[in-house]
Amino acid sequence: MPLVSAKEMLVKAKEGHYAVGQFNINNLEWTKAILLAAEKAKSPVILGVSEGAGKYMTGYKTVVGMVTPMIESLGITVPVAIHLDHGSFEGAKAAIEAGFTSITFDGSHYGIEENIAKTKEIVEICHAKGISVEAEVGSIGGEEDGVVGAGECADPKECKMVADLGIDFLAAGIGNIHGKYPANWAGLNFDVLAAIQEETGTLPLVLHGGTGIPEEMIKKAINLGVSKINVNTECQLEFAEATRKYIEAGKDLEGKGFDPRKLLKPGTDAITDIVIKKMEIFGSVGKAE
Ligand SMILES: [Zn+2]
Repeated sequence: MPLVSAKEMLVKAKEGHYAVGQFNINNLEWTKAILLAAEKAKSPVILGVSEGAGKYMTGYKTVVGMVTPMIESLGITVPVAIHLDHGSFEGAKAAIEAGFTSITFDGSHYGIEENIAKTKEIVEICHAKGISVEAEVGSIGGEEDGVVGAGECADPKECKMVADLGIDFLAAGIGNIHGKYPANWAGLNFDVLAAIQEETGTLPLVLHGGTGIPEEMIKKAINLGVSKINVNTECQLEFAEATRKYIEAGKDLEGKGFDPRKLLKPGTDAITDIVIKKMEIFGSVGKAE
């Protein structure tokens, strides 16, 4: 199946009370691992690309040029979207130009009026090309690409204002943060989530910072209208652990164990495994059959 926007898969997810995972990619191994997981689980999938990862992979055109033929060569039949994660105004325009099928415009650091004006412009450009748009209200805590958010809860009225701009799904801070959660984390604020869902109706909601949120909280959030969950750190941790084990066991020193295709294999397989586990928790397994 060719690349698709994330709109239809998330509307279906909201109706079916499950969530589609956005898993961020960093390179070829990451992309292959996540695509194979989605195909094995028969789940729709969203490949997230942060601006930093886009730069690392030498640009958005390189990313689209890698993902598109890989879907074909791996025989992927499930719906796949390439999504810009936390895009700036200029970054969003560049990703649209390169062929991304879905965009987050993160205007959460602007005042609400400027966020609205800029989101409106991005929505117009994207919808003319069939690209889905995620907007963000209330900063998500933790650190992502050097941007540190305070982990505030979004104002449900502001969520409604942004939802009315015609966006396709909305990320709203509900106490979630990026990266590892601290031991004293207060948990997700379900009252705020319920109030946001009340204001925004059938609009799919997005939960960032999916790493380390307890399974019961994830399931409750899905029941309250979350249809997209972003996972990044967990794949990185799994990849690093499997790679470390390989090296600590001295396997790179045995025969041709130093061959990058061998060296990177345990980490790549670990990503496939964790992605399938997440898809099971999110309830998206079998939804692309
Ligand atoms: Zn995020």
